[in-house]
Amino acid sequence: MIRAEAKQSQGALADRMIGARPGPGPLGVLPMTPSGAGGVLAGCAMIARSKSARSLLGRPQPRAAGLAALLAFTLTLAQGAGAAAAPADAIYLNGYVYTVDGADSVRQALAVRGGRIAYVGSDSEARALAGPHTRLIDLGGRMLMPGLVDGHMHPLEGGAVLLECNLNYERLTVAQLQSRIQACLDQTSQAGPDTWLQVANWFREAMIPNGVATTRATLDALKTRRPIFVMSSFGHSALVNTRALQLAGINAATPDPLGGRIDHDPSGAPSGILEDAAYQKVVAVIPKPTPEQNVKAAEAALEAMGRQGITTFLDAMATPEKLAAFAGAERAGHLTARGHFAVLITPEEGRDIPRAVATAAGLARRFDQGPARAEPSMTVRNIKLFLDGVITAPACTGAMLSPYFTNAGTAAQPRWVPGSHRGPDVYFPAAVLQPLLVAAARAGLEPHMHADGDRAVHEALDGIAALRKVFPGSAIRAAIAHDEIVSPADFARYRQLDAIPVLSFQWEKPAPDTVDGARDYLGPERFKYTEPAGYLVAAGARIAYGSDWPVDALDEWFAIKVGVTRENDPAAGPKYAGRLGSDAGLKLPVAIRAITANSAYELHAESDVGSLEAGKLADFIVLDRNIFRIPPQQIAGVKVLLTVVGGRPVYRDATFPTPD
Ligand SMILES: [Zn+2]
Repeated sequence: MIRAEAKQSQGALADRMIGARPGPGPLGVLPMTPSGAGGVLAGCAMIARSKSARSLLGRPQPRAAGLAALLAFTLTLAQGAGAAAAPADAIYLNGYVYTVDGADSVRQALAVRGGRIAYVGSDSEARALAGPHTRLIDLGGRMLMPGLVDGHMHPLEGGAVLLECNLNYERLTVAQLQSRIQACLDQTSQAGPDTWLQVANWFREAMIPNGVATTRATLDALKTRRPIFVMSSFGHSALVNTRALQLAGINAATPDPLGGRIDHDPSGAPSGILEDAAYQKVVAVIPKPTPEQNVKAAEAALEAMGRQGITTFLDAMATPEKLAAFAGAERAGHLTARGHFAVLITPEEGRDIPRAVATAAGLARRFDQGPARAEPSMTVRNIKLFLDGVITAPACTGAMLSPYFTNAGTAAQPRWVPGSHRGPDVYFPAAVLQPLLVAAARAGLEPHMHADGDRAVHEALDGIAALRKVFPGSAIRAAIAHDEIVSPADFARYRQLDAIPVLSFQWEKPAPDTVDGARDYLGPERFKYTEPAGYLVAAGARIAYGSDWPVDALDEWFAIKVGVTRENDPAAGPKYAGRLGSDAGLKLPVAIRAITANSAYELHAESDVGSLEAGKLADFIVLDRNIFRIPPQQIAGVKVLLTVVGGRPVYRDATFPTPD
C-alpha cells in the first residue's frame, strides 16, 4: 500500500523524504487603524519569534528544510524592506477587507507579492505598489477575509464519500434505509458476490422512529449476497450484514477489542452493530482503495474545500495511506490547500509509547515538507488520540463524569433517571496518556485529542497539565476536539493550560442528535451546558473550529450561522425550533476568529496564516455578501466567489470576474 507507494516516489519529493523508513504505521463595526511599513515589520518580527519558538521544541528538522527556512525568512525580510520599490503581483481594491488582525481591523485593499501579503490598507497606498504587470482586481465593495482554517476534518473520507453510496445524513425509516441501500446494490449489479458495498453518511442517531433498532437482519433482508458495511456519519458505529461478520470472523465468542464494543442480540450473537475499534475488524478485511483511488478522493476533497473557502485544514486522523494520497495530489499539482496532518495513535499502539512516538515521528520526517511557502504543502506536526467515543445515544460511548440517564418508565410515559453507565473507560488511561503527551512533545509532535464526554475532557485537561509541567507556556499546542459536554468546573482550565477546544459549530443546534439522541440521556443539568462554545469563550478559552467533515456535510457557512444563532434551519421543523441549551452563542467576530486565526494558532501556523497582515501568506477569500451586514440566519447562504492560496486563485465562482 502506502509504503510501496512512497518508495516509488522520486524526484521532487525525494529530497524531502530525509529519514524515510519502512516502519509499520497505524491503520486510519470596526475601528479603521493605519497600517503600512509598520505592519510589514510586525509580520516579519512575528515570523522570527515563531521560528525560534519552534526550534525550542527540538523537533528534528531535515537540513534541507532548515536551509529553505532560512532562505524563505531572508526573502521575507527582503520583501518587507523593499516594499516601496518592488511592484505587487496583484492588488485587490475597493473592498471590505476584514483582516482578523489583533483589532479585527477593516481595510480597503490588499496587495500580493511572491505569494505573500505585501500590504493591507488603503486603496491609494495599495495603488502605489502597482507596476506595469500588476493585476488590479476591483472588489466592488465585496468582503474579503482570511481563508478558512478548518482545524479538524477527515478529508480523505470526505472526498471518498463524495464518490460512493451515500445516505447523505438523511432521516430515514428502516424501510427507507433498506430501499436506499438496495438502490446502490442495483446500480452496481455488475459487481460480484464477494464485492463489498460500502455505504457512507448513515445518520444512525436520526433514524425514524427515534431509537429504532437496526441490526444485521436489516441488511440481510436485501436482495444480495454481497457483504455490506454501513458507516455511521458520526464515524463511531458501523452496521454490517451477516456475510460481513462471517468474513471478518466475528462470532458470539469474539471478545471486545480495546477501545471498542461488539453489540450482541439477546441470543448472544453479534447484532451487526460494531462500536469504535470493533468495526476495524471488518475494515481490516475490506480490500483497501488503491493509491490511485485515494488520490482521486483527496483531489475531490480539495476541490470541495476550495468551494467552501478553506485554505488550510487538519486531517485529524492521518494514516500512511492518507498522507500518501495528499502527497500524490501534490505531485499532480492538485494540492490547493495547506494540509496539516495529525497522525493517529491507537490505544493499542499507545501501550508501547516509544514505538508509537517513533512511528509517528517517522511519518512526520517522511511527509512533512518544512516551513510553509507560497505553494501549498504538507505539515505533519500533530498526533491524534481518541479518548472516547460519542455522547449520543444509542452509542453512549462518551466517557462521562456521572452516569447517563435511562428511561425507568415506558415509551409512552417516560421517566428519565440517572442510570449506572458512565460510558467506557477513557481509551488512554492517565498513566499512558500523560507520558505519551510528553514523549510526543519531545519528538516535536503536538497533541490533538478527541474528547466528547466530560470525563474524557477532564482527563485530556489533566494530560495537558502534565505536559505543561515539562513544557510550560504555549511552545507545544494542545487541542481537545469536540468538547460536547464539559464540566463547568473545567471551563477555566482551558485558559489556564492554553488548551484549545476545537469545536464543530454546526452541532450547536436542536437536531436529532442533540434533542433525540442526547437531551434525555444527559438529563436537564448537563443538557443546559451541551456544546458549551459561548461558556468556554466567557471563561477565556481560545476556541478553534473543526467541521469534522464528513461527520457532517462540509458547509462552513451554515456552521458559522449555527455558532452564532444556535438555531437549526427552519426547514428542520417545529421539533427542532429554538436555541440549543442555555449557552449564549458566539458573537460573529468571535466565530470568524475561531475559524481563521485561532485554528491557525491550534495548528501552530499563526505566523503564516489566519489573518491578513503584511508578511503573511496570501490566503484569502472573497464573499458574495458582507456577513456583518446581514441577519446571522443568512450567513448559511453565503457563497464564496474566490479562494486564493499563496496568491494564486484555486477556486473562482463563475459570477466573479476573471482577474486581469
Ligand atoms: Zn473527527
